[in-house]
Amino acid sequence: MKIAFIGLGNMGGGMAANLVKAGHEVRAYDLSAEARARAQQSGCSAVATVAEAVEGADAVVSMLPSGKIVDEVYGVEVFGKAPAGALLLDCSTIDVATARNAAEAAEAAGYAMVDAPVSGGIAAAAAGTLTFMVGGSDDAFARAQPVLAAMGKTVIHAGASGAGQAAKLCNNMLLAIHMIGTCEAFTMAQKLGLDPQTFYDISSVSSGQNWSMTSYCPVSGVGPVSPADNNYEGGFATTLMLKDLTLALAAADEAGVEPEMGKRARELYESFAAAGNGGRDFSAIIETLD
Ligand code: NAD
Repeated sequence: MKIAFIGLGNMGGGMAANLVKAGHEVRAYDLSAEARARAQQSGCSAVATVAEAVEGADAVVSMLPSGKIVDEVYGVEVFGKAPAGALLLDCSTIDVATARNAAEAAEAAGYAMVDAPVSGGIAAAAAGTLTFMVGGSDDAFARAQPVLAAMGKTVIHAGASGAGQAAKLCNNMLLAIHMIGTCEAFTMAQKLGLDPQTFYDISSVSSGQNWSMTSYCPVSGVGPVSPADNNYEGGFATTLMLKDLTLALAAADEAGVEPEMGKRARELYESFAAAGNGGRDFSAIIETLD
């Protein structure tokens, strides 16, 4: 397939490379010349404009920072320029309303569009092991599935347009809450005189078990290797968690829901980021919970 890829940052760079590995012809665009050069090295044809990337494309994939940018890129540079009938896949994490509006505008312009945000970080994007949660019609999902499967290990149809973003935001709000709860439990266990490894051995096979504990333990030297073992560098930056929590709470507001734990998690991550920790992994919040 001829695929245009827009947004070759930490995530998009690896994803575009995996489309090339799967045998697709990828024309790649990013505002950053450095990102374009890296894409060229990984087998994409780097181009100087979105218009060049989407010319003759069967599909357009984007991995961009925000809903505002997604709205601008598609509204101004993709609709009317990509061939009629092309499949559009936005994998960025954005608000539900913008995702729905973009899909509606795409349909009016003669395209099928899905929102397909991901779970999994930079390492999973590079390894092609992302999880995609997809919002769109049955037909659009059927067309999107093989393209996404080249970049991930799991592709799930979440429902109509916007449902992919809704799933992503609910999941990440739960992750934020779980991480803070896990950090509190380890801190309290230690203050009560329990060895962290002993607490892990017990809780990881008991009812407190959760992903933040068994796959991403916030305590160094406990559980599989995680950012805690690397001074909380790399991993999932606190600013990105804060972005997702803000989008999640906006979605909750629109749905008339008041998630008390989600709101508290955002407050805690806000103060953590304001204290200069925005670039550190979100599990480093354990340092503030004692
Ligand atoms: P990033 O900042 O590394 O990459 C974004 C890229 O988009 C940059 O290279 C930037 O130059 C480019 N860009 C910005 N505006 C553009 C435009 N108008 N046209 C073309 N290119 C443009 O960000 P990232 O970490 O790759 O994240 C991308 C998306 O993936 C975000 O929505 C983020 O929330 C989501 N996400 C990130 C992670 C993660 O661990 N980093 C995990 C899951 C989801």
